[in-house]
Amino acid sequence: MTVGGTDGAGSGAERTASARPARLLVNVADLRRRLGQRRVEPIEVVLPRQTVVASSTTDGPVVGEVTVESIERGVSVHGHVRFGWEGECRRCLELTGGELEVEIDEIFQVGAPDDSDLLPLDGDQIDLVPLVREAVVLSLPLAPLCRQDCPGPDPDRYPARTEIDLAEEPASAGGDDEPPRDPRWAALDELRLGDN
Ligand SMILES: [Zn+2]
Repeated sequence: MTVGGTDGAGSGAERTASARPARLLVNVADLRRRLGQRRVEPIEVVLPRQTVVASSTTDGPVVGEVTVESIERGVSVHGHVRFGWEGECRRCLELTGGELEVEIDEIFQVGAPDDSDLLPLDGDQIDLVPLVREAVVLSLPLAPLCRQDCPGPDPDRYPARTEIDLAEEPASAGGDDEPPRDPRWAALDELRLGDN
């Protein structure tokens, strides 16, 4: 009457499939056999919701395509992705959003990288998800506008809020414990302040 572990294996495989983090692994071993060899790779990935200041990605997939090409000491990845975003208009405070297309242009290099912008190439596979996520995050609008000539808040709905109030509000509604910030945002914040 003893039942072995035979049916445990199947359910375990299903469980890991559904809980798997997003990855877009591309095998580059064949490309790297000859310099200049290239291949187009489709991209379709659902990322966790990414939020920067006043805008976020929507729940839909990030889609696009990249060309992976064999170069000296590694591979280059060049292409574009599209994704949906939404956020609060900085003037009227209504929800706005749309679709953005962003370019991807990265180099994976074997060994000690020539500079810090290059990504390490270890083994035969590259994961495109981190660079897709970075491209998406860096292109999210920091101060969205629903339209260029947005007249500003409806005074009946937002009587007490002014531009100064909004500027002093923390970016997240979460309260005291804000997550640690990527230092790269400091440069973007300066651009945002200069825009006002
Ligand atoms: Zn607006």
